[in-house]
Amino acid sequence: MTEAAPRTETVGVSPGRVNLIGEHTDYNEGYVLPIALGERARVTISPRTTGGGDGITVSSVQLDETVEVEDPTPGEHAWWGYVAGVVWALRERGHQIGPVTAVLDSEVPVGGGLSSSAAIESATVLALDAHEGLGLSPEEMAEVAQAAENDFLGVPTGPMDQRASLWCRTDHALLLDCRDLSTTHIPFALPESLTLALVNTRSPHVLADGHYAQRRDACAAAARTLGVRALRDIGPDDLPDALARLDDDEQVRRVRHVVTENARVLEAVEALRAEDWPTLGRVLTASHASMRDDYEITVPTVDLAVETALAHGALGSRMTGGGFGGTVIALMPTDRVDELTTALEAAYVERGFTTPGVSTSRASAGGIELSR
Ligand code: ADP
Ligand code: MG
Repeated sequence: MTEAAPRTETVGVSPGRVNLIGEHTDYNEGYVLPIALGERARVTISPRTTGGGDGITVSSVQLDETVEVEDPTPGEHAWWGYVAGVVWALRERGHQIGPVTAVLDSEVPVGGGLSSSAAIESATVLALDAHEGLGLSPEEMAEVAQAAENDFLGVPTGPMDQRASLWCRTDHALLLDCRDLSTTHIPFALPESLTLALVNTRSPHVLADGHYAQRRDACAAAARTLGVRALRDIGPDDLPDALARLDDDEQVRRVRHVVTENARVLEAVEALRAEDWPTLGRVLTASHASMRDDYEITVPTVDLAVETALAHGALGSRMTGGGFGGTVIALMPTDRVDELTTALEAAYVERGFTTPGVSTSRASAGGIELSR
């Protein structure tokens, strides 16, 4: 009798993220500045004991579901695709991935704009890299994780989420240049007197897809009119001239947001480097006003969260994420976070909105692989 092959398990752990500033700048080849959160997805990979061939077994602890995927191919948009898509993307690149079992266990809230999807993809690629001994570079891991989302699930997200999840460092934000994908780790450790509060506005992303495409198209059209490769190429000093050359009022507003937002990311970086928290706060709030008035991607629930935070001592506050709901961040005096929670509940009840959730976060570490 031959002994059964030893069962080896590998674990990938990777966090959700929140973007401090830089919204709708990614597809304009500009800047974003995310931090990783403390909440993480954990994916455990082991050899598959049932089936064989190219099949994989995927389980979710949170959904209490197990799915057998015999031939991972793009097309079907389902929860297990965030794992299966990574297997597919690795195989597309010529890596040998055997039949595996993947168990997903995630504490990243879903649908709050904190990128539970990238956390799963990143944890999966980390675990598979260790399990199959692939020796992937950090860049290749990010590309594979992003390909799972873009090409397997068909979700047209930019380069930020997986890179933030994989590469962020504790007490640092990650400045990502979406043109050349270069990164810089920017120190971001708040003093004890200040706290980054995250408000989950619990708003559905109604019609967000159509709005997203319209804004992308408007930016591309404006870039063509202005004769630049992307709006990234317009600096704040060029803005008045650029706006004067656009006849379309909607494009004027969209371009103004993108150009000023890119400049604000760089201002935020300088403020972080100088530990100038009041300036950081002002830049965050200016970003919110620009998203509300020029990019027109905020909704009453997020505007109310920002107004309430500012009325209760926030140095600055803004919606984060693509828009139409999701999470609002607020740079709060630590001793006023409870007051904010109570005030938000009252303000939301008064307007008939679902009670928002408030959490706090520091800039946490990106993904790791743990073999055992
Ligand atoms: P976000 O990334 O902003 O949280 P997405 O819509 O991109 O939102 O990704 C959320 C999707 O990821 C969920 O609808 C589900 O398909 C999948 N997902 C996230 N967490 C889990 C989990 N614990 N178990 C199974 N699927 C999950
Ligand atoms: Mg997502």
